[in-house]
Amino acid sequence: MMLNDEYLIHAYGRHDAAIDHGDGVYLYDTEGKKYLDFYAGIGVNALGYGYQAYNEALKKQLDKVLHVSNYFYTPPLLEASEKVVKATKLDQVFFTNSGAEAIEGALKLARKYYFLKHGQADSEIISFHHSFHGRTTGAVKLTGNAHYQEAFGPLMTGVKYANLNDLDSVKALINDHTAAIIVEPVQGEGGVNPCTKTFMQGLRALCDEYGLCLILDEVQSGMGRTGSMMTYFQFDITPDIVCLAKALGCGVPVGAFVANKKYGDALVPGDHGSTYGGNPFVCAAVSTVFDIYQNDHIVEKAHEAGMYLETKLNELEEKCSHVVGHRGLGLMQGILLDEPNSSAYVQKALEAGLIVVSAGADVVRLLPPLIITHKQIDEAMGILEKILK
Ligand SMILES: *Cc1c(COP(=O)(O)O)cnc(C)c1O
Repeated sequence: MMLNDEYLIHAYGRHDAAIDHGDGVYLYDTEGKKYLDFYAGIGVNALGYGYQAYNEALKKQLDKVLHVSNYFYTPPLLEASEKVVKATKLDQVFFTNSGAEAIEGALKLARKYYFLKHGQADSEIISFHHSFHGRTTGAVKLTGNAHYQEAFGPLMTGVKYANLNDLDSVKALINDHTAAIIVEPVQGEGGVNPCTKTFMQGLRALCDEYGLCLILDEVQSGMGRTGSMMTYFQFDITPDIVCLAKALGCGVPVGAFVANKKYGDALVPGDHGSTYGGNPFVCAAVSTVFDIYQNDHIVEKAHEAGMYLETKLNELEEKCSHVVGHRGLGLMQGILLDEPNSSAYVQKALEAGLIVVSAGADVVRLLPPLIITHKQIDEAMGILEKILK
């Protein structure tokens, strides 16, 4: 197939392939080439491709109604809301169309709460260096990486950046204007950097002490990827707000911010909205995703596959001179390279039929579908071993 991209804005460095279809954890391009997918559409396709119960539920909803506006209830909306609230152990949800919009909503919620408490709109937010929260102008300001920001100013003010896993650097930024702390339990784009349990519990304690809103960005790390439905279950804490997207809909564009009642009640009619957010089509997907997770034990499988992947990565590190380590949690892993040439390895893997992605110049990131088997992990390791030796 001729890849004519002259009608596209060239905002992406795309691979030289056009994908035709997927089946299980494999993708097929228009030339018929088969790829083992350890990228899952940036962690979206937790159930891989063609998961029968998922496809059937979407086809059923397609014939009922796709969209009605948020001025009506729909059964899929109500079902999905109960399931996402129970899965996060929080109280109330607002559905968005993307991760960045979930972040924007969480930000507005935290600021509105501060406004109600202080009577002034002069709140500050603490974020982290090397974080990633999305590409809208508010989310990009929260993203602690100058490269994503510099051309798009002036951006929102009132954001300060601390160092991950350094509680003192957070404490030093807290003042009377601080409204919230936002953090990824495992930084994704910033190089697959997990927070420690001590640090996360320290953040929770700081937020309790100073009356701040703890916002967790689990857009990439949530929905079972790290071995528990929410990563924060492993840290024995509960945030005030969690942001979800990516695997929440397993392929349909949907995100959510989920809050405890204290923060959720801060928004009243007229404060926030979205034309598409939580329409019956995407909510039918979300609702089905939670059913499948429960019926087919997806989180348990992901936990088990994640442990296997980690042992395999230890072996890879021993066998390959270009690998100096790995870090991550569960099925969210980064292979650390001896040189800043991750994109060259991503390209080599692609040629060998394996889709992976870089996370910074010296990290190759693995985000397989959560249904990945031992055999398929072995297959991926075989390819990586050849190119990293
Ligand atoms: C992908 C991602 C986002 C942004 O999600 P979009 O759907 O691309 O807007 C935000 N936060 C994290 C941690 C992400 O990985």
